[in-house]
Amino acid sequence: MKTAMFYGEKDIRVEEMPDPIPAPGEVLVQIKSAGICGSDLHNYRGNRPRTGDIPWRQGHELAGEVVGLGDGVSKLAVGQRVAIEAKHLLGCGHCRDCKTGSYHICETRGIRNGVRQASYGFSELDVVVQENARLIPDHISYDGAALLDCYAVSVHAAHISPAGPDDTVVILGAGTIGITMGQIAKAFGAGRVIMVSTRREPLQVALQMNATDEIVVTSKIDPVEGVMALTNGDGGAVVYETVGGNDQLIAQCMTMSRRGGDVCIIGSFTQPQQVPTDLGMQRELSLKWSNSYSSFNGIGEAQTALELMSRGLLDVSGIITHHYPIDDIKEGFSVADDKRNSGAIKVIITP
Ligand SMILES: [Zn+2]
Ligand SMILES: [Zn+2]
Repeated sequence: MKTAMFYGEKDIRVEEMPDPIPAPGEVLVQIKSAGICGSDLHNYRGNRPRTGDIPWRQGHELAGEVVGLGDGVSKLAVGQRVAIEAKHLLGCGHCRDCKTGSYHICETRGIRNGVRQASYGFSELDVVVQENARLIPDHISYDGAALLDCYAVSVHAAHISPAGPDDTVVILGAGTIGITMGQIAKAFGAGRVIMVSTRREPLQVALQMNATDEIVVTSKIDPVEGVMALTNGDGGAVVYETVGGNDQLIAQCMTMSRRGGDVCIIGSFTQPQQVPTDLGMQRELSLKWSNSYSSFNGIGEAQTALELMSRGLLDVSGIITHHYPIDDIKEGFSVADDKRNSGAIKVIITP
C-alpha cells in the first residue's frame, strides 16, 4: 500500500510498504478521508523537533471502510463505514485515569504492551481496535466522519468549561477547532458566541455555519477592545483558546474574560506563556487546559459528537476547503500551512 513518510519538516515522501495486518480485536480499514490537523503542522513549520523515530507516519483524523477483520472481532463486519478514534488516545486501561474514563490523560497514553500506538490516516490502509471504530450512518460522509476527531476535541472542552444560556462565549481562532467549538458550544446551549480571528474570510464561514453569532476581525480592531465592545465591557464567561503557537494569547484570553470566568486552553503553545497573575486574582479566573478527549459520564466524547452530527446539528459543509489524493500530500500540507493565501480551513487527504 501507499503511505506518507515524514522525514522532518517539509520532507514528506509517499512510499510503498506492506499492507498492515489486523491484530486480534483489530480491524483493517481502507482510509477514505484523513484531515491535516494543526498539530501535524508544528513539525512541518519547524516549531517542534521530532523526538521519536524518523521517518514516521501520521494522520489522526480519519475515516474509512472496514476491509478486513482480526481474530475475535465481533462488533464489525467487512464493508461497514466507520469513523475512527485515533490510536494515540488509547489508555493503558487500568490506571486511575483510565478507570474513571479519562484515558486521554493516562500516563502511558498511546502505549500498549510497551509499543507506541498511532493511527496512520495518510495511508491507503490502517488498523484500529474495534472499540475505536464507530459505525457511521449513510448520511454522514467520510469527510464529516474524519472531522469527528475535531468535534470530539470541542465536546471535551465544552465539558471542561461549560457555558449556559445566559453566557457569552468567546472563541479565539476561526480554524477547524474554532468553528467546531462554536457549533458544539451552541449545541450544548451557550447563549451567544463571539469569534475572534485575524482574518475575515474564515469568520464569515463560521457565521454561515452557525458557529458564531458575532465576529471580531483583529486586523481591524484590537481583539480585547472588540470583545469588550460587544459585551458592554463585561467580557466572556468562557474564553476558548484554539490558536496556540508563539504569541502571548493566554494573557489576551484572560484580559477578555468576565469576572469569575473560565479560560479554556485547547491550542498548543510553542512558547512559554506569561500569565497576568494580578488580573487572574482580581477577576478570580480559572485557567483550564483541554487535551484531546476521552469520555464523560461514561459516554465517549467522540460518540457524543457523532450523535450530534447524525441529528444534523453540526454543519460541516464549509469547513472542508481542499482535497488531495495521497500522491499530492506535499501540496496538501503546503496549502494547509499557508491558510492566509490558500483560504484553507480543513485540508483532507483522500488516500
Ligand atoms: Zn488533531
Ligand atoms: Zn491508563
